[in-house]
Amino acid sequence: MIIVMEASATRREIEAVCAKLVQEGFSVHLSEGVARTIIGVIGDRTRAMGLALEAMPGVEKAIPVLNPFKLVSREFRQENTIVSINGRVLGGNEVHLIAGPCSVESREQLLETAWAVKEAGATLLRGGAFKPRTSPYSFQGLEEAGLEILAEARERTGLPVVTEVVDPRFVSLVGSYADVLQIGARNMQNYFLLKEVAKVKKPVLLKRGPSATVEEWLMAAEYIMLGGNDQIILCERGIRTFETFTRNTLDLNAVPVVKRLSHLPVIVDPSHGTGKWWLVQPMAQAAIAAGADGLMVEVHPDPGEALSDGKQSLTPENFRNLVASVKEIAVAVGRRLSNTVAGEQLPK
Ligand code: PEP
Ligand code: MN
Repeated sequence: MIIVMEASATRREIEAVCAKLVQEGFSVHLSEGVARTIIGVIGDRTRAMGLALEAMPGVEKAIPVLNPFKLVSREFRQENTIVSINGRVLGGNEVHLIAGPCSVESREQLLETAWAVKEAGATLLRGGAFKPRTSPYSFQGLEEAGLEILAEARERTGLPVVTEVVDPRFVSLVGSYADVLQIGARNMQNYFLLKEVAKVKKPVLLKRGPSATVEEWLMAAEYIMLGGNDQIILCERGIRTFETFTRNTLDLNAVPVVKRLSHLPVIVDPSHGTGKWWLVQPMAQAAIAAGADGLMVEVHPDPGEALSDGKQSLTPENFRNLVASVKEIAVAVGRRLSNTVAGEQLPK
């Protein structure tokens, strides 16, 4: 249930409602919007409705939330959530481009890619150090050595780093290097991992599971928000369907659906969503047209030699072309690409 307070409600009135709920054994979550405060009530809905909270001073109305997700719902917070990443804001009018290799393979490969994507207009750097691979015989990532390389790339280029954490035991290690913790598609329903990243004061990029419904995806986000972290970026990366031509089927419906159901920002990964480099640009354009708050794109200096996902990786030149094309689409839908790093001098 949510309690919508009157616009004129005083702090004392808000506190009195919260105190009553806590005393009755409910947990409360405040959302202080521009116009009014909303109190999210977690606990038995029928019993909460029986408390006659609407009779308390300052309460406008008590509404049962019918969706199973509460804190991440639009009912709970009407304004879009803005995620702050080292001075960059995601979820507002500006569209962000997260780019970099699938895997960190070497210092040279990562630094070369980081400079290339930065020059092209990326505002965040991606790169996997712990790689969840379908085959145990495939490259598994450089692990902590990869995290060190990512940290060096951030120091040199100024780009914040997004990297995946695959296991609850590694959350503090990855969190000590990363600016954004990525939960991969395969781990979307690893609830122990979700509870651990909820405790870290860092933004979380939550990929949609390959077979997850939008509701299951939002319930995964609910774990993170319930655990105390509302800095969540949802990422559509394609789902499994009967179609085998593409690696996954990029579900762009999910973008406006999530925007309607939730206040959290949503970005799109057309690399994993398609599995083919030549499909990445058109689907990136479509994603921005559909209202995505950003893109996550795999870029490699030499995709033919990549240790993972070369087939879906763009060359730096193809990434530059993608940026030019999505820039126009963003303007057409009343937005613009983030230029937080524009105008910075690149060291020689
Ligand atoms: C990735 O982005 O590195 C990745 C492994 O993607 P996904 O979890 O979407 O398969
Ligand atoms: Mn990949």
